[in-house]
Amino acid sequence: DKPANEPPNSAPNNKPNAGRKSSCVREVERLKKNREERRARLAGKIAQRKEDYDTSHPQWEFLQMIREYCSHLDLRPLVGNESVTFHRICVCVRKRPLNKKELGRKEVDVITVPDMSSVLVHEPKTKVDLTKYLENQNFHFDYSFDESVQNDTVYRFTAQPLVHTIFQQGMATCFAYGQTGSGKTHTMGGSFVGKEQDATKGVYAQAAADVFKLLEQPEHSQKKLEVCASYFEIYLGKVFDLLNKKSRLRILENAQHEVQIVGLKEEPVYDLSDVLRLISSGNSCRTSGTTSANQHSSRSHAVFQIILRKRQSGKLHGKLHGKLSLIDLAGNERGADTANSDRNTRMEGAEINRSLLALKECIRALGRKGAHCLSEEAN
Ligand code: ADP
Ligand code: MG
Repeated sequence: DKPANEPPNSAPNNKPNAGRKSSCVREVERLKKNREERRARLAGKIAQRKEDYDTSHPQWEFLQMIREYCSHLDLRPLVGNESVTFHRICVCVRKRPLNKKELGRKEVDVITVPDMSSVLVHEPKTKVDLTKYLENQNFHFDYSFDESVQNDTVYRFTAQPLVHTIFQQGMATCFAYGQTGSGKTHTMGGSFVGKEQDATKGVYAQAAADVFKLLEQPEHSQKKLEVCASYFEIYLGKVFDLLNKKSRLRILENAQHEVQIVGLKEEPVYDLSDVLRLISSGNSCRTSGTTSANQHSSRSHAVFQIILRKRQSGKLHGKLHGKLSLIDLAGNERGADTANSDRNTRMEGAEINRSLLALKECIRALGRKGAHCLSEEAN
């Protein structure tokens, strides 16, 4: 990085030592000049950065490190028209945008979705010499959706393949799992416009719409299938029917060791508007009688089921053909978040974690294709 206009080292000088001395001085001057230039460049860079970033932001250096890191990535996020692969167990992740509160608090968006099957988590770290650096962790999923992806695309890659499964006499389940506020209800029940939820945009309604569409296709229309729906919630290990005034239901095992929810109401549905009506009345039933509707609903598991039955003459309910369970799980808060709460809240938290642990064990067993043990705690 020698400046181009620098004079040659052997400058003309008559005195024997003066030449060496002056070249030494010149070297010092050259270094000084270089240093000043370097400083000027750095100052320019910092000024540029200050223009690029809002340096009043308490974390602007962290933001800048993330932006710089991401500028070297070959970003290829999912666009929505990719083909969908069938998985026996499929685990997807969805990133939601920062909300108004988080933006107001100037929180840093630490998640990048670089491609359709992974997410990056950026973590600020400080070395012992106090230099700041970024630690980036990569996590893999079957599909990953960034904040620009809408509910219909999430549905296409997650629950839609399961609708085909139930027509082939399968039992399928789709869970929304995550912390409170991460977007489970937005995904399953539908996007919010203010406080109003647009149920047509949720996974429940999209799955129901596809069920009615498939029912009309020639390969299924001959099967004499009827569609029913049920909607219940599990709160503190107890089951309540959301389509029957929130009545408490018992869970029993039949002679075939199959778990049954005794008396669960199954409503016949004939089109999407029937389903939307049920969802809406179930939701209002779910939230009534509590001081904070959202707080309550995020502490129970909600299960919406679409059931296919083969019509049998003279019988109210035909033989079970297939069942799709769509589940908006309770938020998995960390113990620390509820440590200062009252006893009931802590009990709820413990129960939620216990049930989520049981669920995890069940999914693990399914993954191993091992015996799916229904122990006491796994129901
Ligand atoms: P959860 O059910 O997991 O507790 P919600 O679905 O109620 O969370 O979402 C919390 C808030 O974030 C809601 O106001 C919702 O509208 C908003 N939200 C969630 N996911 C998204 C998203 N992908 N895009 C826009 N807003 C979202
Ligand atoms: Mg919710």
